[in-house]
Amino acid sequence: GTIFIPRELEAIESRVGASPDTVKRLVGLGFAVVVETGAGTLSRIPDADFAAVGAVIGKASDVAKADVVLKVRRPSEAELKGYKPGAAVLATMDPYGNDAAVAAMAKAGVTAFAMEFMPRITRAQVMDVLSSQANLAGYQAVIDGASEYDRALPMMMTAAGTVPAAKVFIMGVGVAGLQAIATARRMGAIVTATDVRPAVKEQVASLGAKFLAVEDEEFKAAETAGGYAKEMSKEYQAKQAALTAEHIAKQDIVITTALIPGRPAPKLVSAQMVASMKPGSVLVDLAVERGGNVEGAQPGKVVTTTNGVKIVGHLNVPGRVAASASLLYAKNLFAFLETMVDKTSKQIAINRDDELVKATMLTDGGKVVHPNFANAAA
Ligand code: NAD
Repeated sequence: GTIFIPRELEAIESRVGASPDTVKRLVGLGFAVVVETGAGTLSRIPDADFAAVGAVIGKASDVAKADVVLKVRRPSEAELKGYKPGAAVLATMDPYGNDAAVAAMAKAGVTAFAMEFMPRITRAQVMDVLSSQANLAGYQAVIDGASEYDRALPMMMTAAGTVPAAKVFIMGVGVAGLQAIATARRMGAIVTATDVRPAVKEQVASLGAKFLAVEDEEFKAAETAGGYAKEMSKEYQAKQAALTAEHIAKQDIVITTALIPGRPAPKLVSAQMVASMKPGSVLVDLAVERGGNVEGAQPGKVVTTTNGVKIVGHLNVPGRVAASASLLYAKNLFAFLETMVDKTSKQIAINRDDELVKATMLTDGGKVVHPNFANAAA
């Protein structure tokens, strides 16, 4: 079979779906691998590095030969025109609210896999793109916050005087938040964190940060069986806001990462809270693509408020550390693809009864097959 790795077309996308390591492994499994020229440029992978491990450097139209396409973002309708019916496409598909795009993939006859639907079970940890990318986003959020902040993060005692340590507050302690805590701690900040899931409390403490939350009865039941947060009641949100308001006024950098699966991001920081912060303080909203946790955050922009507080709303934050992000993302895709390879025939053989396939397969055989997108089928 042939595997194709295209150059991503969205201007914001700097990552790529393969690395020299994964191409080498794919070639080792007996596949012909074609990489579109320039596919790795923004991830600092020159064509020559792909060629050195056995890839053929090709052009966009070579996708027509591909049995498998390894991508970062969902293929557009224009891109799909070049795809072979029956080709498998692995990417982050961002399908919610994009029924037409899902239907277009069905119509093109491709078997599309949404990598972000990978179950969070032990076997699939190596394929978990949400975790690999959120981890880097959490790291990068602190770097972005620090670079917008006009002061140093660690306490510095010098002959010329003492620079105080910065106070950093992390809101939402999932994968991104945990890495943000660890990164801010490494940089010498005084770190506090909040979440609505009680399981987080111990993790925060183990990273040397202080946990702050409204710990009532609702909090004790806020975690779903899947390990995610529930949407909290109006009453809880009000109590949470009161606690947050008092704390935020004293913070230098606030990083927000709070998400609820299938819902808009919860609004955690009001304009009033932003206004209460000191000039030069920085908020970094990692949830900005999902509606934002911070009032006034703008996708793709760094906003400075009238009181001199910066609100950072960068898009595609993992793509800001593209070379690292691509390395991990490529490995996630490879690990999943490897489960679909028949080692004897060296061909793709999709087991449609496999729980990982069932959870991620969006379209197949000309139809939308994922239960969550039955409407897209029409
Ligand atoms: P996420 O991106 O869905 O959300 C980020 C965080 O925001 C979560 O911790 C959530 O509790 C928090 N949040 C939601 N509403 C909030 C509010 N109103 N106020 C404050 N915080 C709020 O989460 P994630 O990073 O995907 O992690 C979700 C869970 O999955 C975690 O328990 C994580 O440890 C777990 N996980 C498991 C595996 C695995 O077992 N393979 C892999 C990765 C993550």
